[in-house]
Amino acid sequence: MKLLEQEILNKGRVLKGDVLKVDGFLNHQLDVGLLSTLGKECAEHFKSQGITKVLTVEASGIAFSCFIAYYLGVSVLFAKKNKTSNLTDTVYSTQVMSYTHGRVYDIFVSKDYLHSDDKVLIADDFLANGEAVNGLRRLIEQAGASLAGVAIAVEKGFQKGGDKLRAEGIDLLSLAVIDEMSEEDGIRFRSNQ
Ligand code: 5GP
Repeated sequence: MKLLEQEILNKGRVLKGDVLKVDGFLNHQLDVGLLSTLGKECAEHFKSQGITKVLTVEASGIAFSCFIAYYLGVSVLFAKKNKTSNLTDTVYSTQVMSYTHGRVYDIFVSKDYLHSDDKVLIADDFLANGEAVNGLRRLIEQAGASLAGVAIAVEKGFQKGGDKLRAEGIDLLSLAVIDEMSEEDGIRFRSNQ
């Protein structure tokens, strides 16, 4: 999506460790006009899937997910993160390796809010190795719910999460796919986006 690519070029910053900082508009300070446009685009793509819920992980996926859910007319459920493991039998839970913090978290959602008749769209701000998305998929499996697809704002295509999901036949919509990025040479997007 050209609008998002342009924002990334204008305001994004490439950090060490293959991290792109876009917290001026996507996941810290929030450009709600832009987020609304992104959300509408995702909702348009998935609108005929019968989606009942958008599932993301706290905290940086929440804003993006809210706009998708708004246009789909459904709720957002965000998995909470917990560094310790005092989880009860009232939640679905799994472990996820955090890309940006380099450590393992428990993530969990209440059994009250994810049910076997839910058709779930997973959404997140970034897709790198796919750890977060796969963790959310495990929560969906535990609930016996079904996965409708995955919506991502920024996929780092040089990491393998996106390609693995596509190879599995999952409907993955990434609004911007970065094929190369470095502090020196900047950012190159996948051309067919
Ligand atoms: P994955 O689980 O796919 O390896 O990484 C995706 C998760 O890590 C997202 O939830 C996102 O919050 C975080 N993440 C991965 N790469 C980046 C990045 O380059 N920039 C930012 N801001 N977050 C990232």
